Amino acid sequence: MNKKITSIVIVGGGTAGWLTAGRIAAHHRAQDGNIKVTLIESPNIPIIGVGEGTWPTMRSTLLKLGITETDFIRECDASFKQGAKFSRWVTGADDDFYYHPLMLPQGFGKTNLAAHWQAARNNNQTQQSFSAATCFQEAVCEQGLAPKLITTPEFNSVANYAYHLNAGKFSAFLQKHCCAKLGVQQVLADVTGVNPAENGDIASVTTEQAGVIGGDLFIDCTGFQSLLLGQHLQVPFIDCSDVLFIDTALAVQVPYESDDAPIASHTLSTAQEAGWIWDIGLVHRRGVGHVYSSNHTSEEQATERLQSYVGSAFKNLTVRKIPIHSGHRQLFWKNNCVAVGLSAGFLEPLEASAIVLVELSASMIAEQLPACREVMDITAKRFNDTFRYRWERIIDFLKLHYILSKRNDNSFWSDNRDPATIPQSLQELMQLWRYHPPGDHDFTSNNEVFPAASYQYVLYGMGFETDYSFSQHLLHDVAIAQEQFNKNRKNIDQVMRSLPSNRDLLTKIHLHGLQTI
Ligand SMILES: Cc1cc2nc3c(=O)[nH]c(=O)nc-3n(C[C@H](O)[C@H](O)[C@H](O)COP(=O)(O)OP(=O)(O)OC[C@H]3O[C@@H](n4cnc5c(N)ncnc54)[C@H](O)[C@@H]3O)c2cc1C
Repeated sequence: MNKKITSIVIVGGGTAGWLTAGRIAAHHRAQDGNIKVTLIESPNIPIIGVGEGTWPTMRSTLLKLGITETDFIRECDASFKQGAKFSRWVTGADDDFYYHPLMLPQGFGKTNLAAHWQAARNNNQTQQSFSAATCFQEAVCEQGLAPKLITTPEFNSVANYAYHLNAGKFSAFLQKHCCAKLGVQQVLADVTGVNPAENGDIASVTTEQAGVIGGDLFIDCTGFQSLLLGQHLQVPFIDCSDVLFIDTALAVQVPYESDDAPIASHTLSTAQEAGWIWDIGLVHRRGVGHVYSSNHTSEEQATERLQSYVGSAFKNLTVRKIPIHSGHRQLFWKNNCVAVGLSAGFLEPLEASAIVLVELSASMIAEQLPACREVMDITAKRFNDTFRYRWERIIDFLKLHYILSKRNDNSFWSDNRDPATIPQSLQELMQLWRYHPPGDHDFTSNNEVFPAASYQYVLYGMGFETDYSFSQHLLHDVAIAQEQFNKNRKNIDQVMRSLPSNRDLLTKIHLHGLQTI
């Protein structure tokens, strides 16, 4: 029980496996021999190969792994992402859209602009959407501009940003870096058996090509199989398809019409009859996919919708069908095994919340690595509490995108609005927000994945109205609010004049690189 934890065995070499291996190895300096990090990866089972939208957290993750931004962008076909544009989610009309940018509303923390914006809108003093009036990033995205200049040093920004990336290239890039620079040992082998210790821990795994491999802590990154936590330790799966109905994805890779075609600097999510289509611009191609509920539409209809979205290029593309089981494991860490990535669970990629959970899991494991087995159950409990909370908040936030829609073209939308499908926690928040806008007090944990600002963007973007007649105090600081609206207008003018297009900046980075920090 008091033996130092020194040998970490990760099974699975997708984005989850390599990010976790790299984060632990870098934090504990595995290359100096302080700790042994072994990653076992099947040479026969491919990685999922989708997962192209990330969060701004990826910048600090790459930095912690000692990766340069220039190398990452060049080798992973990466582009800049500055948020998501939700099109046709409210009425389904051509001009129906709103943004969830990656920056807080102007002056957030000083004043709550939501109340002032709504008052101005209702008095016909502004026609602007909430995100356009409070955040300059919407204008940046609408113009396809980059979040920084070629002179802005690596990982620094003018506007907050994340990345779109090629998932296959990213795993291969991480593998090369982790093995060459961080001391991770890769074993190409299929795990065929899991061998228990007397106390129920995992003592070792048996592989077809490399014999038996033992360790102190096992990290299950085996994707949807959840080989160690789900199959071996029998941790139940909590299904949430009664809340989030998406259960199938059809994915394609779409070539650009020309080498200099614009690259969108946001993820475009366009609502469909029974789901939505994602559209992600990488440097050399777009990643496009239709996720839908098979209880509300057929594969043929979904394919037709994807075809009509993609246009004439569709006939030459290979469509990949991926089943989606919405939900997560009841526990993420049991005994000496913790699951990261798809093996822990998955929810539709509406807000790209999967890879960020991988990063958060890898950080917590790296930074709170139990010193010895004696204290591991305490760390496991904390990890389980933290991530259970995070999964539940993500489910609430994803569901929020559906419940305010006015679409009626399919029972998919009315079923989504049925209170019986809305978690109690979200219903309570919606009740509170009838009288005050989302604020930091609504989220008391320091483990929030989506801040109050994100809820504001979705609520007010979708036409939700808060009744301020009971809380007039929220409208008192008129002068401060006006100053913030003016600042936003000035910021828009400034960035419109200074920022290059997303394509231009990426081309320059491929040619010259960014300044290192
Ligand atoms: C349609 C879709 C769209 C998505 N979009 C996004 C997005 O935009 N943003 C986002 O953040 N996330 C997204 N995701 C999720 C994202 O793809 C995953 O979270 C991410 O790729 C991590 O996957 P993984 O490493 O857990 O699993 P995988 O990539 O499936 O890797 C599993 C690994 O386990 C190995 N393995 C399995 N069995 C064995 C065995 N017996 N022995 C040895 N090795 C084994 C495999 O060889 C492989 O290396 C999306 C997912 C889907 C399905």
